[in-house]
Amino acid sequence: MNVEQALSQLKEKGYKFTGKREEILSVFAQEKRYLSAKDVLSALQMNYPNISFDTVYRNLSLFEEMEILEVTELEGEKRFRFQCSTTRHHHHLICLDCGKTKQIHACPMDWLEDSEEEEFQVTGHKFEIYGYCPECSSAAVQA
Ligand SMILES: [Zn+2]
Ligand SMILES: [Zn+2]
Ligand SMILES: [Zn+2]
Repeated sequence: MNVEQALSQLKEKGYKFTGKREEILSVFAQEKRYLSAKDVLSALQMNYPNISFDTVYRNLSLFEEMEILEVTELEGEKRFRFQCSTTRHHHHLICLDCGKTKQIHACPMDWLEDSEEEEFQVTGHKFEIYGYCPECSSAAVQA
């Protein structure tokens, strides 16, 4: 997902194209990591000093609904990032410090296939691995 794709999705669904929406999307394009609504708010306040948390949050929820952003919860707070553009099934390693993610192509559902749970009808699954990326863990050692 990138800003152009997201904007054309908005247009298709009949949503108004606003400078604020574009700005929110470009924050995600630049940061390429999980951001909280507060992170997005403070990035936008540079150009829109009067923007409210509510406006930011409503747009984030809209983008989530439209599957422009994907969402997870880290340390009790919702975090957002652009949906990965790859269609290949994957999961994420997520850095708790900087919010950057890395794709992994192993899936725990493969283990389930060999298990006894044949009667359970699976409709979906979530799997995330949390920790610290190489940059953040080496910074912690130096500090
Ligand atoms: Zn992904
Ligand atoms: Zn990190
Ligand atoms: Zn999977």
